[in-house]
Amino acid sequence: MRVSKEILPKVGTAIETVFKRIKIENNFNFFVTADNNQANASCSLMSSASRPDIVLTSRLIELLSLEELQFVIGHEVAHFVYQHALYPNHNNVDDRNLKLNILNLSRAAEISADRIGFLACNSLEDSLRANFKLASGLSDKHFNFKPSTYLDQLRDLEDLGKSSTELWSTHPSFLIRMQSLIWFSMTKEYHEFFDNKKKGTYNLREIDEKLDIKIKKITGDELEISNKEIYEKALIWGSLDIYLSDKKFSKIEQNEFASRFGKKANKAISLLKMSSARDMLDKKIDISFTEASKLLKTEKDKLVEELKTVGKETGGDKMKKLKILGKLLNILGIKKPVSF
Ligand SMILES: [Zn+2]
Repeated sequence: MRVSKEILPKVGTAIETVFKRIKIENNFNFFVTADNNQANASCSLMSSASRPDIVLTSRLIELLSLEELQFVIGHEVAHFVYQHALYPNHNNVDDRNLKLNILNLSRAAEISADRIGFLACNSLEDSLRANFKLASGLSDKHFNFKPSTYLDQLRDLEDLGKSSTELWSTHPSFLIRMQSLIWFSMTKEYHEFFDNKKKGTYNLREIDEKLDIKIKKITGDELEISNKEIYEKALIWGSLDIYLSDKKFSKIEQNEFASRFGKKANKAISLLKMSSARDMLDKKIDISFTEASKLLKTEKDKLVEELKTVGKETGGDKMKKLKILGKLLNILGIKKPVSF
């Protein structure tokens, strides 16, 4: 059933309030579907070209107060505005590291959407209650609302150490989501958004870092370590290729290379002493950059920037170095001209 203010005046008003608060034009269609089991909302059309549909289940509307419903509506609107549906689908991917990166991104998308949900209802308590109700399925009469006890549960979860359930999950634990909302409510950015007189204790970057540490305690650092390994391998072999652009590798250059990469540099340099050095290096580059092509875009962009710095700081012909960079970018799947 399509939501209209005539049929569902309270829900209609809640929707209006959300768009006013988050300062976005309402070009969405809202529907309610009969489902008494699942308290759920979804955004069913994700292309920015057409009018998106947001579907709320009847159970969701029965379970939540109108303020809590505003949180959920804001959350769904955010998924559309941020175009999260354009993220790659982890189900279509075999590579373990890539799959984990996509799941990590998917959990980050939930955290972002929650923040917009919070702005949409402009109440920390209602945001937390909505989260709790969706996680437990319980209505008001069954629970005591005390955020501090949830944070105790989060600490218990941290004490248990890394959990593969969390690592492989598309959504963060509701405990993480609650912690994230509490910190978000303390940011300068939040207070600025509503022109509050209060200043806020943290900025967004600070709470993102705090959150990252919490999340890693629960998911473990497997993903971070494997991303770093892939990144560093590509960086060292790519850099070596740039150093060799003029087919020379002088003592000075070798020392430079060694001070840039430490112990790992010696291993790479010793490879060059073999008779089939060029073939070996080409193979190393091919393997390491194919692996790196599966990193997330932000990581790949960072890698390109570091390789450009290497290009700038080494001697030799600039055009030759640019040509090598172009080849490396091509394996990474980045299709744009490169210059430094
Ligand atoms: Zn979501």
